[in-house]
Amino acid sequence: MKDILVTGGLGYIGSHTVVQLIEKNYNVTIVDNLSNSKIFILDNIEKITGKRPHYFNIDLTDYNKINSCFSKNKFDGVIHFAALKSVSESVNHPDKYYHNNLNSLLNLLRCMKENDIKNIIFSSSCTVYGQPDKLPVSEKSPFKEAESPYARTKQMSENIIEDFTNSISYLSAISLRYFNPVGAHHSGLIGELPLGTPDNLVPYITQTAAGIRQELKIFGDDYNTHDGTAIRDYIHVEDLAEAHITALQRMIENKMKSKYEYYNIGTGVGYSVLDVVKSFENVNKLKLNYSFSERRSGDIEKMFSDCTISNKKLGWNSKNGLDEMMSSAWKWEKNISKFLKG
Ligand code: NAD
Ligand code: UDP
Repeated sequence: MKDILVTGGLGYIGSHTVVQLIEKNYNVTIVDNLSNSKIFILDNIEKITGKRPHYFNIDLTDYNKINSCFSKNKFDGVIHFAALKSVSESVNHPDKYYHNNLNSLLNLLRCMKENDIKNIIFSSSCTVYGQPDKLPVSEKSPFKEAESPYARTKQMSENIIEDFTNSISYLSAISLRYFNPVGAHHSGLIGELPLGTPDNLVPYITQTAAGIRQELKIFGDDYNTHDGTAIRDYIHVEDLAEAHITALQRMIENKMKSKYEYYNIGTGVGYSVLDVVKSFENVNKLKLNYSFSERRSGDIEKMFSDCTISNKKLGWNSKNGLDEMMSSAWKWEKNISKFLKG
């Protein structure tokens, strides 16, 4: 049985990946400081899988604490999700983002080096491409100017990881560049947990439907798209989690063609904000309160992936469509208040 360390494993994407790791018979250790999660997620991972992963409440910016975790375990691989992720917050507090996201990564890589750990998968983002010249965006597209400090931490992290793989003979890494993860586990037991007002579209939609928000404001109706609203490549979080399992197997089975690989993880299909709203209404048989407002500053018109390389080389494909994303997101939203109350 292989031992995997999952940082940020109680977060949105991490928890779905932990479930699939356990289901594939990996032995999982989670490190999460609960800065953007709640401990009931650990209970619910156990409810889904019948197994409770080892869990340490450690802040990754604390080198001594994280190193103590490495000295007790010999990990076959690390999946590094832990990071702060709000684009708008990063613009106002770049110090917080550089400190948390970069020091966490550096501490982790240092521990891996000192303990001869060979494999790391990193949560990157399509924001590394900035405003791409051409769509769909493939892995061959260059990094353009980062649109936010958050995006810059992802670009810098990828560069740091590549440098480490060049300098440590046994180290391999895969960065997965996520497009727009949405939806929740089909059980309705884990999902995205926005603490405070959500920045992102889908939690805003579900909270509006639940009556927590009055109405969704659609930012911009004058984009050059089929209905005037902006386009993104939404990917079901369970498909995204599976990409990590596929990448991990590739590393552990020594199938990598180079020491550092990076892949787009999206569906390759772009949907507008109105497409998402209509799918949500249709699949859940609900009417959503929404109105149009000004474009959100810094937003791009269209973003969607070319996933040919991840489909062919990594051997991963997304399976779920927009309706599955919207029905699972709503199922989860209806459960959140119950779990938060305990
Ligand atoms: P999340 O906030 O739900 O999960 C991150 C987890 O990491 C949280 O549980 C948080 O408590 C923990 N954490 C943060 N800093 C930590 C630290 N210093 N020490 C220990 N734990 C810490 O976020 P998510 O949506 O699951 O995102 C996971 C990763 O994927 C992040 O790196 C994020 O940047 C990246 N990503 C997310 C999206 C998205 O839209 N959700 C898109 C692209 C990339
Ligand atoms: N969006 C919106 N209203 C909201 C939140 C988001 O119209 O309350 C739009 C946003 O302008 C973008 C799309 O939904 O066009 C996806 O936004 P999100 O923040 O989820 O992802 P990102 O823009 O970071 O890709």
